[in-house]
Amino acid sequence: MPMPSAVDLAAHPLTIWQGPLGLPDFTRIGDGDFSGVFDAALTAHEAEIETIADSAETPTIENTLAALELGGEPLDHVSSIFWCRAGAHTNEAIQALERDISPKMSRHFSAISMNERLFARIDDLYRRRDALKLDAETLRVLEKTWKNFVRSGAKLDAAGKKRLAAINEELSSLGTNFGQNLLADERDWALFLDAADLAGLPEFLKSAMAEAAEMRGQKGRYAVTLSRSIYEPFSTFSERRDLREIAFRAFTMRGQNGGATDNTAVVRDMLRLRAEKAKLLGYASYAALKLDDTMAKTPEAVHRLLDPVWEKALEKATSDQIELQRLAAEAGSNEQFAAWDWRFYQEKLRAEKFAFDEAELKPYLQLDRIIDACFDVATKLFGITFEEKKGIATWHPEARVFVVRNADGSERGLFLADYFARPSKRSGAWMSALKSGYKLGDGSRPVIYNIMNFAKPPEGEAALLSVDEAKTLFHEFGHALHGMLTEVTWPSVAGTSVSRDFVELPSQLYEHWLTVPAVLEKHALHVKTGKPMPKALVDKMLAARTFGAGFATVEFTASALVDMAYHARPDAPQEPLRFEAETLKKLNMPDTIAMRHRTPHFGHIFAGDGYSAGYYSYMWSEVLDADAFAAFEETGDPFNPALAERLRKNIYAAGGSKDPEELYTAFRGKMPSPEAMMIKRGLV
Ligand SMILES: [Zn+2]
Repeated sequence: MPMPSAVDLAAHPLTIWQGPLGLPDFTRIGDGDFSGVFDAALTAHEAEIETIADSAETPTIENTLAALELGGEPLDHVSSIFWCRAGAHTNEAIQALERDISPKMSRHFSAISMNERLFARIDDLYRRRDALKLDAETLRVLEKTWKNFVRSGAKLDAAGKKRLAAINEELSSLGTNFGQNLLADERDWALFLDAADLAGLPEFLKSAMAEAAEMRGQKGRYAVTLSRSIYEPFSTFSERRDLREIAFRAFTMRGQNGGATDNTAVVRDMLRLRAEKAKLLGYASYAALKLDDTMAKTPEAVHRLLDPVWEKALEKATSDQIELQRLAAEAGSNEQFAAWDWRFYQEKLRAEKFAFDEAELKPYLQLDRIIDACFDVATKLFGITFEEKKGIATWHPEARVFVVRNADGSERGLFLADYFARPSKRSGAWMSALKSGYKLGDGSRPVIYNIMNFAKPPEGEAALLSVDEAKTLFHEFGHALHGMLTEVTWPSVAGTSVSRDFVELPSQLYEHWLTVPAVLEKHALHVKTGKPMPKALVDKMLAARTFGAGFATVEFTASALVDMAYHARPDAPQEPLRFEAETLKKLNMPDTIAMRHRTPHFGHIFAGDGYSAGYYSYMWSEVLDADAFAAFEETGDPFNPALAERLRKNIYAAGGSKDPEELYTAFRGKMPSPEAMMIKRGLV
């Protein structure tokens, strides 16, 4: 009998990319190929790691750090195609593989970070780092690598390592429980209504509620559910104060309803384990551990951002509430103004102040024109150009391929984009890389892609976007530029490999150019008449942006401050919910606004570890982007060439090659202050 043939990593189309333009040859990749190639690539990477760890030679940057960074290329290649498929064009086979591959990958990488012989070599280099006379980027990569090992427990004794592994495992299963409990609460609660109960609701909401009721076996009725996409518009539009109150109470009690799905004990245990983990690794608190490799660096720095914003937001919300109470009184309500009234009267006020319809804007925002606008702004700022190449096979026929060129015509990399929603694509919008750009070894040119979920227009018609969608296109393209403009040597600091509170700067900053008058005049052209958007409409659109900022900032910042309060203390509260209440009381939280995420359903910080002690990052990035764009506004030229070059060099090209504070200061000449963000939000 013939032996089953082993996968040849040196020849397989998943690992050796020989398609047009250096892309993988997608025509030769089948769903059945992934599993075997993954296994072979994991084994090959393990062998590479063993070779580095077992080397008899004295550790050098070349034989240890560079070997580690350049190792695992077949695994990188198969992974990047697989995760692209898993998000952008999946099916049952890919989904089944995902469940199989995720734990394999996490075991693989945790084994590397626990490899003592490997760490001993990194540690040796680290101790000799001053004598090695390294350039700044190499030194930073060495320090980051060393720190990552240490933060994974490499310096602990055997008992410490064992305890850390147990804590990590327990935290990961508690995080899963938290998410599943929340999902169960959200799934099990519904308020069924009849046609007579729908006063004030717009058509899109009625049909979503009808669909939700039908899914729950109540065809012909309407369900309020706890999904944000139904709850928020319901509490915004429903004329029925009694129903708004019921929905509000259910929404804010998610995860805190007693019984098997109650998250209170889960949170208590997670906070206790996180505090223990921080202590074990030598940090003063879990926040100190998590913030160590961010731009903010310390909980104190986060407070220097959040505290002044909180004060301004409270002032604004207080004065907004007076106006809303006046509206409520005029509408004949003599009840005390409550949390379930806020969105409702705020919407009435919005309609009164900014009478315009989203539908008026849409004909001016054609997808193809807005794509051109993205490219055009990049050409003006950074000199790069884009040329579409038709007929090249990718993961899906709708994905488009663009060659990206430098100002001198030389090739910089590729940009791929897949714009329309389809059942095989997960929701949302994102940027990722098939290949990142770096110079180490033979070097690599970036191959970056954007995935969107815009509604596909009928054949022969132009796709039109909402303002939010156009913004999303600019946002993700900003991330893509971070990947495409990268100029670093080391792969691990290329492109978007930066800290959590810095990664949204290039994307959120880029959004600002969408509404620059010259960009709108050139690209926001009416789909039928070809005429630019009238100035009055532009003005209304811009003015409406800051509306409701008091409410939005209070609900967000309250959550960010509670997250910090939990994690910046050296120990953990016995009763988290009492601690939440006490923290809010100290902050003078208005009882007419709820936290955007209360503790028992704060998935960002408890359903996994992604944003624990990190919910502030969203606002931190906003401070950066507002302050960075203000730099252009101060010069009176949104394309100021000298400033654009500093922006390219220090932000878009630099990746994580330097400390983010250093990068930002090199661009701006100073650290940002929250002023520009507060002005942008309309708080001052
Ligand atoms: Zn983003």
